[in-house]
Amino acid sequence: MSDNTPSGAAPVEAENAETALQTIVEGFLRFRHEVFPEQEELFKKLATAQQPRAMFITCADSRIVPELITQSAPGDLFVTRNVGNVVPPYGQMNGGVSTAIEYAVLALGVQHIIVCGHSDCGAMKAVLAPATLERMPTVKAWLRHAEVARTVVADNCTCAEHEVLGVLTEENVVSQLDHLRTHPSVASRLASGQLFIHGWVYDIETCAIRAYDAERGEFRPIDGDHPVPMATPRPRYSPS
Ligand SMILES: [Zn+2]
Repeated sequence: MSDNTPSGAAPVEAENAETALQTIVEGFLRFRHEVFPEQEELFKKLATAQQPRAMFITCADSRIVPELITQSAPGDLFVTRNVGNVVPPYGQMNGGVSTAIEYAVLALGVQHIIVCGHSDCGAMKAVLAPATLERMPTVKAWLRHAEVARTVVADNCTCAEHEVLGVLTEENVVSQLDHLRTHPSVASRLASGQLFIHGWVYDIETCAIRAYDAERGEFRPIDGDHPVPMATPRPRYSPS
């Protein structure tokens, strides 16, 4: 969600509806005539099967493009998006996120699940200012899954006011990783060391990514010089 969403206001410089659709259709035609023919082999291979490298759970915000920021091709990422990159705890909701997780882990056998939050997240801003959601009861109900992060920050964070949004965004990723671990398919494969989970926060302005290091209890940058910080708990069984 972008900044303008919770207030219900239209984007500042909205193009008219006809132009917006026309731009999208022209993009599709360019893809069909110019891009697709160049990658025909890949699409032929993908026509009947997929074996994605990872599941990527992120916010619905239009500024986050998982394939772009990870330079992934079609078929590489199994992407699930929603407002606030939320993962409802197992058993509370048999909705789209839980279904996608079970399918990714059991049917596709993904080895990595990445939960990715981002800077300037409208959902996180709404969590900090719940009055903005009065006319959006569904969003309000959905963001109850971020209430745990809000409470942790409110009770523990001594940071300056301008830092609260960033801290909440990181804490929300940690909370959603906790929720992720309540899903039996995830818990089972984590216990046997067959699945790895990651908590990232992407910065829109600088394109930096900070990743959660569960061992140290802190977020650190992915810089290419150090091992990628991981949120995966230690396995307790060998793979069956
Ligand atoms: Zn967002």
